[in-house]
Amino acid sequence: MDDVLIIGGGGAGLTAALYTSRAKLSTTLLEKLAPGGQIALTDLVENYPGFPEGITGGEISQRLEDQAKRYGTQVVYDEVSTIEKKNGNFVTKTSGGASFQSRSIILATGASYRRLGVPGEKELTGRGVSYCATCDGAFFKEKELVVVGGGDSAMQEGIFLTRFATKLTVVHRRDKLRASPILQERAKQNPKIKFIWDTVVTHIAGEKKVEGVKLQNVKTGAVQDFKTNGVFVFVGHDPNTGFLKGFVELDEKGYVKTDMKLQTSVPGVFACGEVRAGAVQQLVSCCGEGCEAALACQAHLEH
Ligand code: NAP
Repeated sequence: MDDVLIIGGGGAGLTAALYTSRAKLSTTLLEKLAPGGQIALTDLVENYPGFPEGITGGEISQRLEDQAKRYGTQVVYDEVSTIEKKNGNFVTKTSGGASFQSRSIILATGASYRRLGVPGEKELTGRGVSYCATCDGAFFKEKELVVVGGGDSAMQEGIFLTRFATKLTVVHRRDKLRASPILQERAKQNPKIKFIWDTVVTHIAGEKKVEGVKLQNVKTGAVQDFKTNGVFVFVGHDPNTGFLKGFVELDEKGYVKTDMKLQTSVPGVFACGEVRAGAVQQLVSCCGEGCEAALACQAHLEH
């Protein structure tokens, strides 16, 4: 029986693990993929305090995991399928067939990239459609690319992709970007980046790989075929809470509701980071929430 089971090994979960382990609470952290979560897929993190030159997503992810392990966190790579409350404790089962008992739980499962949901997207994923510039950018040397979205991810990842692509077209559904001013400015000044405004992708075309997209102007309704070698989709995220339905209270978008102490509707279950309703989606704030959830969990266990 562990004192704390942490589900999710991104910035929030790994920071929570660091704090609970250093508080001498026996801690197991379950992660389904790799340390760092979404941040591991980011090329360079420029806004995490203390790293004036920036730090790669891969490096900070590994460092966060190493730091939690150093104080005793046991990290297990497996995916949670169910959680149940039994005799005042929690039983968590995984798709790998393992079962974990704990006195408390910290949910830090984050969110996953959202898909466009248009014809051709699913069929051509991995064959020109991608959601990760760091993972797939190098396959597009001297190619032309489309990036969909107008947020920080679309700008940051788009700028990264211009290391490889000869031309990159951002297709955005409005005429204003959502991204922060510094990223907007950098993208607009990049000679390889062009913008198509008020436009959505309605179809991704190609036989064996992406050959083009069908675009529709949302104001005029005009449709055009646009040639491209690849489509990178950065249109936001959805919370990873499928396994939590009926266990803790979620908001209408599926994020976990908490009180000010980051406790969910179930006493002894806390949530932090991007999976939490109302969270700011930044690495530094996710790590901060991991700390807060760990301290609240510690107080709960001591009570
Ligand atoms: P986001 O901020 O939610 O932006 C998503 C973008 O996709 C928006 O421009 C949105 O358009 C568009 N969009 C959403 N659904 C769409 C659809 N079905 N079809 C076409 N376009 C669609 O997501 P994000 O850029 O991934 O960022 C997520 C969070 O991480 C944010 O808080 C962001 O600040 C943070 N982040 C920060 C950094 C950084 O600080 N360097 C880097 C990456 C991410 P509308 O604008 O019209 O809604």
